[in-house]
Amino acid sequence: MKIQEADAKALLLAQGLPVPPWEVARTPTQARAAAVKFLGDPANATGKVVIKAQVLVGGRGKAGGVKLAGSADEAEDVAAQILALEIKGLPVRRVLVGPAADIVKEYYLSVLLDRSTRRLMFIGSAEGGVEIEQVARDNPAAIVYEHVDPLLGLPDYAARELAFKIGFGPHWKAGAAIAKGLLKTMLAYDADLVEINPLAVIREHGAQGTPVERLVCLDAKVTLDDSALARHPGHEALRDLDAEDPADVEARRYDLTFIKLEGDIGCMVNGAGLAMTTMDLVKRAGGEPANFLDIGGGAKADRVAAAMRLILDDPNVKAILVNIFGGITRGDEVARGLIEARGQQEREVPMVVRIVGTNAEEAAELLRAAHFETAATLDEAAAKAVASARATAA
Ligand code: GDP
Ligand code: MN
Repeated sequence: MKIQEADAKALLLAQGLPVPPWEVARTPTQARAAAVKFLGDPANATGKVVIKAQVLVGGRGKAGGVKLAGSADEAEDVAAQILALEIKGLPVRRVLVGPAADIVKEYYLSVLLDRSTRRLMFIGSAEGGVEIEQVARDNPAAIVYEHVDPLLGLPDYAARELAFKIGFGPHWKAGAAIAKGLLKTMLAYDADLVEINPLAVIREHGAQGTPVERLVCLDAKVTLDDSALARHPGHEALRDLDAEDPADVEARRYDLTFIKLEGDIGCMVNGAGLAMTTMDLVKRAGGEPANFLDIGGGAKADRVAAAMRLILDDPNVKAILVNIFGGITRGDEVARGLIEARGQQEREVPMVVRIVGTNAEEAAELLRAAHFETAATLDEAAAKAVASARATAA
């Protein structure tokens, strides 16, 4: 799960990393208030604020989503412009406002899960500020890699070596500490990527008005391991629904495991193993499954209806095969869900239902009364579904 820059920066800050101050604004008025605060800060060396779109895409700068403003009026205007943008298909609902940095040099530093080596890997470069993929193409020698054992972490000597290789110059101590901090952040939150681009040397006004330079995380990108979300109850709130496939959002809401596939026969099954078997039998009968869908154990009518909507949202679906083995899941509940779903259905698609096990008799009665097509065996159900799909296609 990707999280927005402002949320990523909060995680970095909590782990002790140097992040310039910021505020999040949802309206131009809020952006103005934040700008007034940062414009009046004596440490602000540029006398400007930076306003950044909070959307889960890269290259916001190029898309017009990162702008500077020199006054409260300008900040309000710029925020209004950015909040009206759609960047790579995503609406901008929030902006980050912070003191505009006086950038001396931009670096790149990230740590990620490298599945191929089963290690964590640092990637660093003195050519930051641009996409690292582009540096990898144009000047691969400018990139430094360092693998780390997740159990041993990054020892001090390795952090120093990494900092020297990247070339932080006088900022090598800060560079080494930031590398350690990124790893700490990754492990603390079960992230699979923590990327700082740019990690920038910025010039600020020191105590006596003298310029001081320091290395700070000017941008932040963090992706969290979905499988570990249960260990971090607060993280669900960081989810950005705009960036997700609506089908995934809907499936999660109803506790369904849904994976869209290429075929035209929608499958609704309880249990992952039975779902795979059902897909195999659809293929053996000469058809192609449109999805994998496990409605889980003990599914009630509303979950069945949600599953049906997910299947029918795929315009490729020409027939539906429902295969339920009732254990904890009660056949009559599923039947009621199917009847309810068909009542709300926006398009007519042939459906074959096989329900065996708990309350199968009651289910059969309900389905018969509602004129559903049923099948006694899975092979029969698959054959009927394939035949219906062909008839619909023709
Ligand atoms: P991205 O394009 O989505 O990666 O957004 P970034 O936060 O990385 O910003 C893109 C670029 O805008 C950076 O590489 C900087 O060159 C520039 N930028 C971002 N923040 C500031 C700032 O505070 N001051 C100045 N002068 N430039 C900035
Ligand atoms: Mn960036």
